[in-house]
Amino acid sequence: MTTSTVLGTWRDRRRFARCQRRLHHDAGAGRPVERDGRAHVEYRCVPCDVRWVRPVDTDIDVEDVVRADLGDGTVYGWVTAVEGDRITLLSDGTTHTADRWRVQVY
Ligand SMILES: [Zn+2]
Repeated sequence: MTTSTVLGTWRDRRRFARCQRRLHHDAGAGRPVERDGRAHVEYRCVPCDVRWVRPVDTDIDVEDVVRADLGDGTVYGWVTAVEGDRITLLSDGTTHTADRWRVQVY
């Protein structure tokens, strides 16, 4: 494995949610959960054994600038369509469709 491969992987992983206790920890893309009857995303930092949640963004509109934590990393882009809980965004010329809980207005 080359150095650039290692750095690339490290940078990609860094784009996910940061641990709230130690910023260099990667808390991943989270998972959808329900709290008080509302949709949230739960994050967990394994080394710190801490969990926290954020509400799912309910007012995402076409043309918003967003970040989306996809399964293989985070992308930034423009929303081109909103259909229920499916958000389509354009990032660097590539179209991605993601579940709403993975997308946040940036
Ligand atoms: Zn941590």
